Amino acid sequence: MKGLCCHSNGNIELIEKPIPVIKDSKDAIVKVAMSAICTSDLHIMHGAVPRAIPETILGHEFVGEVVDIGSDVKKLKIGSRVAANCITFCGECYFCKRGFINNCEKGGWEIGCRIDGCQAEYVRVPYADMGLSILPDEVSYKNALFVGDILSSGYFGAELCEIKKGDTVAVIGSGPVGLCAMNCAKLLGAEKIIAIDIDKYRLDLAKSKNLADYIINPLKENVEDLIKNITHGHGADGVIEAAGGENTFELAWKIARPNAIVALVAMYEKNQTLPLPEMYGKNLIFKTGGVDAVHCDKLIQYIKNGDINTDFLITHTVKLENILEGYKIFEEKRENCLKVAVVNE
Ligand SMILES: [Zn+2]
Ligand SMILES: [Zn+2]
Repeated sequence: MKGLCCHSNGNIELIEKPIPVIKDSKDAIVKVAMSAICTSDLHIMHGAVPRAIPETILGHEFVGEVVDIGSDVKKLKIGSRVAANCITFCGECYFCKRGFINNCEKGGWEIGCRIDGCQAEYVRVPYADMGLSILPDEVSYKNALFVGDILSSGYFGAELCEIKKGDTVAVIGSGPVGLCAMNCAKLLGAEKIIAIDIDKYRLDLAKSKNLADYIINPLKENVEDLIKNITHGHGADGVIEAAGGENTFELAWKIARPNAIVALVAMYEKNQTLPLPEMYGKNLIFKTGGVDAVHCDKLIQYIKNGDINTDFLITHTVKLENILEGYKIFEEKRENCLKVAVVNE
């Protein structure tokens, strides 16, 4: 089969590999129908993911059909249509039992990082009953492509904010995760969503897709003043930081009202400064997040019911054999690219 290998020098190449086989009784083999290219794949190529093992096939966001299962797999059957969790987790360890699957003692980010990933024709999924969710007939592969990674990340950000009905939530970053976070924040009861980004296209999208009530471009407007105006001088009840830019951490706590929750789901490349004297008395709660993607089944129900729709995030589609072109489009954000779907056959 074909798979996209990330060589130790960071170059990527479509290579021939044997179709994966069951190695453990809890494994499943999935025939990949559709996968996505993620910013985390670029981080691996750039050497920014210490846990990544060189010469591994990339990709951790996918949907497909189960074609083989180990003897201890109970939930899945051959022929099940599934969406995958980006995290491999055992479901039984100290952290998994508490829902903190990102820190599973036996898993973590494995697929497309430490074991061969889904930018291939087939992929082996450890702890398959945990990491794969069955799709109802009404939910297409396209509908469910982002369930286990960026949609889960957006939901996670919204959940961290402990949103109450009527809240105003500011989301910094209108990329795929930010847009998902806006959708989820609304579902969790937010009345007003404020989208903040320096990219006009992405802001306009947030507005036109009805995900944001207000859009603010920090390059053109004073974010703090505008948010004060929108919130009767209070500041945002919750802030989801999904940008990870140069000044976005500072912006996140500045636009939060006193006693707000600031959810940091962005991945920063540099250390950030917490000026405690300056924020004394503001009594903020900071939560940091690498997604605990424990709500995949619930998110699939939301999609089935029409409460969440992430189809519009797929701005480009390429065949697996043209995946290198897909990477170029994604990395250079050509033609306002949000997400590239890679389809097999
Ligand atoms: Zn990802
Ligand atoms: Zn575990």
